[in-house]
Amino acid sequence: MKKYTIGVDLGGTTITAGIVDENCRVVRKCTCDTELPQPETVVEEKIAGLCRRVLQENDMTLDDIRWVGIGTPGSVDSKHGVVDFNANFGYFDWELRAHMEQLLGCEVHIENDANAAAYGEYIAGGAQGAKYAVVITLGTGIGGGIIIDGKIFSGYNYAAAELGHMVIQKDGRPCMCGRNGCWEKYASARALTEDTKAALLSHPKNMMWQLVGGNINKVNAKTAFDGMRAGDQLAKMLIDKYVEYVACGLTNVINIFQPDIVCIGGGVSHEGETLLAPVRKLVDWEEYARDGKRRVTIKCAELFNDAGVVGAAWLGNQAQ
Ligand SMILES: [Zn+2]
Repeated sequence: MKKYTIGVDLGGTTITAGIVDENCRVVRKCTCDTELPQPETVVEEKIAGLCRRVLQENDMTLDDIRWVGIGTPGSVDSKHGVVDFNANFGYFDWELRAHMEQLLGCEVHIENDANAAAYGEYIAGGAQGAKYAVVITLGTGIGGGIIIDGKIFSGYNYAAAELGHMVIQKDGRPCMCGRNGCWEKYASARALTEDTKAALLSHPKNMMWQLVGGNINKVNAKTAFDGMRAGDQLAKMLIDKYVEYVACGLTNVINIFQPDIVCIGGGVSHEGETLLAPVRKLVDWEEYARDGKRRVTIKCAELFNDAGVVGAAWLGNQAQ
């Protein structure tokens, strides 16, 4: 039996294709720019070209792989292989699977990118061994993926697991989804960056200015963590508040799903226990099943940037 598959992570900025072996290891990967806006056919050609390139660089051909799996933004009807809509790319009813099968001449599977990344963590990363897993990515927004009994849960219309658009503050900060007070407006890496910038602008003498060389544009989600480590009080207040926001949404997610594992990914998760230990403490105070014998495990994601490629590469197993 063929040992290799290809996983493709289609993003708004870059496309990554990786050859993945039977142990879920990424053997080789290639990346190219998406260069949006583009018509569908150009993006399809780019994906096909990238798959061929990564195979060639590894002295392989499409005959050596079992299938190509693609994680793409948007609402993805994985059963019929159609992207119902992808707002970032401006595509509707995109028949991605059929087109890619035609271009590549091999079996193709498609899934939403956040779901594919969650599946990757479940197959080979931090959520390995879970029966029920939720994977949360704290990035520009908050991405989510839900695994139930080994299957990606995507809802009736394939738009489920939008955990970042759960309101944690009624009439709070406006969100591009149309609601106010969404979790991602408070607990994403971008939200922490914005809150740090606002705090610095009203504290012109704060030490964090030195961390960013006096340049507000150099503030990122790590700035307040670094400030806190250096003993700054304002930074500590920012992180305390951020931890509260993360824990609030996380407790909601846990109360709804009671998964055995929740994995936290995204750049902020590189803070590891600096972030997770205080988050766990708050969840321990608030979670409904806190006194129960069986408790959720909250941990960091392990595959980081490779989660999307590994999860996409394994999609063929979902379909069987
Ligand atoms: Zn929202």
